[in-house]
Amino acid sequence: DLSMARTSGATPTTGGFDVAAIRRDFPILSRQVNGKPLVYLDNGASAQKPQAVLDAMDRYYQQQHSNVHRGAHSLGDAATVAFEGARETVRRFLNAASTREIIWTRGTTEAINLVANGLTGKLSAGDEILVSHMEHHANIVPWQMLAERTGATLKVIAITPEGELDQDSLKQQLSERTRVLAFTHVSNALGTINPVAELVARARAIGAITVVDGAQAVPHLQPDVQALGCDFYAFSSHKVFGPTGIGVLYGREQLLEELPPYQYGGEMIERVSFEKTTWNALPYKFEAGTPAIAEAVGLGAAIDYLNGIDRAALEASESALIQRAHELADSVPGMRIIGTARNKAAVMSFLIDGLHPSDIGTLLDQQGIAIRTGHHCAMPLMDFYGVPGTARASFAFYNTLEEVEQLFTALQKIQRLFV
Ligand code: PLP
Repeated sequence: DLSMARTSGATPTTGGFDVAAIRRDFPILSRQVNGKPLVYLDNGASAQKPQAVLDAMDRYYQQQHSNVHRGAHSLGDAATVAFEGARETVRRFLNAASTREIIWTRGTTEAINLVANGLTGKLSAGDEILVSHMEHHANIVPWQMLAERTGATLKVIAITPEGELDQDSLKQQLSERTRVLAFTHVSNALGTINPVAELVARARAIGAITVVDGAQAVPHLQPDVQALGCDFYAFSSHKVFGPTGIGVLYGREQLLEELPPYQYGGEMIERVSFEKTTWNALPYKFEAGTPAIAEAVGLGAAIDYLNGIDRAALEASESALIQRAHELADSVPGMRIIGTARNKAAVMSFLIDGLHPSDIGTLLDQQGIAIRTGHHCAMPLMDFYGVPGTARASFAFYNTLEEVEQLFTALQKIQRLFV
């Protein structure tokens, strides 16, 4: 029953997942591109922002802005309340036990770097760091550098041609030597949803630290970090309908206590003297310098907005989009989908015989249809499939079945005219 799909917001709904009302909340979705109504299918790269996010940031700058945690005047207090309120909103969103476990970062990339950097003193030769073959570069390179600094070895879990983790490889690679298991919740290039809780349980059984890249998961699923059991979970605001420039690292409190600070300066200290400096309490120990205050407020507003949408209806609507896209793939001669995992988010990577992915992107853009082409920051994955890149349509809950049809009508035409 989707009749209460949208439970808050300005436009009342009259039954069903009211995608038309939702689209009105996103100003950019009504613009034209190249003379055609925008069909935005590049949500995996960055999602669009609802008016509520723009308004919250505007209101913050017009009414509340000052530096946070300085406490000397009313505006400073207002900014601090808004900023820390957003942290609490994120805590609830992830179901973390405490706001001490919610660290603001610039995004997923910085969150993973923070952890990898912090583990420098804790790994040595003989230790292993395990990642999967489907990772984004943001969840490969920081680990590769950690291995280089410490003498540890980087190991890789193989994947199947469908784009799922290879269970035999996992069994083989995960061992008592594994100190860190870092993997993506949802693959940005394939859409594969990995079984996080199961992987975490196996890693914890052998005492490995688990780091989950949630960048592509949060727009589609609502992760519960306590249920997943992971030690760290990272995501970026801009992919979950919030502003750029901010993201989140969730970390288990005890582990965060054990990690050294990532950067040094104001905010992150307790007491400074030229002889000795001590660190501030969590989460501030990891937040050197003036933070992205308006962006935190914007992310909080994005999560509030999402909380007003029925999750089950959102997920059902997205499933319908990806299912329809897969069905229509047969209607384009020579089209091949890369990534056919059984459990898959609304992401479709594809190739069309005789067409370069970047040409597909350019020709679709002329029709107002925005997709991503290239290696998707996952070069090892592209190597696995033996392709330089793919074309990728990635959907959000504001996309419609009509847009899926428009994509395929355009692809059929491109295939007819250019192959
Ligand atoms: N991990 C995955 C799976 C991603 O898709 C992305 C973004 O493309 C990132 C990490 C990096 O996110 P950001 O560039 O926001 O730090």
